[in-house]
Amino acid sequence: MTKFNFQVVALETAVADAARQAAAEGQPDHRVVVVDSPNSAPCRHCLQWAKAGERVILFPYDAVPPGRPYSERGPIFVHAAPCPRYEQPEYPSDFRDGRAFRAYNAENDLIDACLPNGEPPEAVIEKLFQNPETAFVHARGATRGCYTFKVERQ
Ligand SMILES: [Zn+2]
Repeated sequence: MTKFNFQVVALETAVADAARQAAAEGQPDHRVVVVDSPNSAPCRHCLQWAKAGERVILFPYDAVPPGRPYSERGPIFVHAAPCPRYEQPEYPSDFRDGRAFRAYNAENDLIDACLPNGEPPEAVIEKLFQNPETAFVHARGATRGCYTFKVERQ
């Protein structure tokens, strides 16, 4: 296991629960989806792929808060049923492949980005944090760009 000196920050439980509530109320921007293929719907709360047949909620999330040039709202999934928030010290094993990494400064400006080229994700994240301006890093889907989770300095 590669040493990992950073903190993985999964989606807050309050946000996941609010999405479940909004879906239950039938809000049009919260859609319940039955997953039909593996590795298609990453749950941002437990940081695992939803399994085929599981229900997930698809909804828009402010991955970069509003009011800034790089503000960004984009689609994410959480399990429709309650799941445990990811709180492990290691990089999440389900997302070792297929992620791109973006570095942001304390003003939420995008300052760097990296697509691993065969390197372990820990090494890419470490490299982005070598810049003292990097306040946090986003792991994103490499092809669709969707927010997966955040990494902070410990
Ligand atoms: Zn989950």
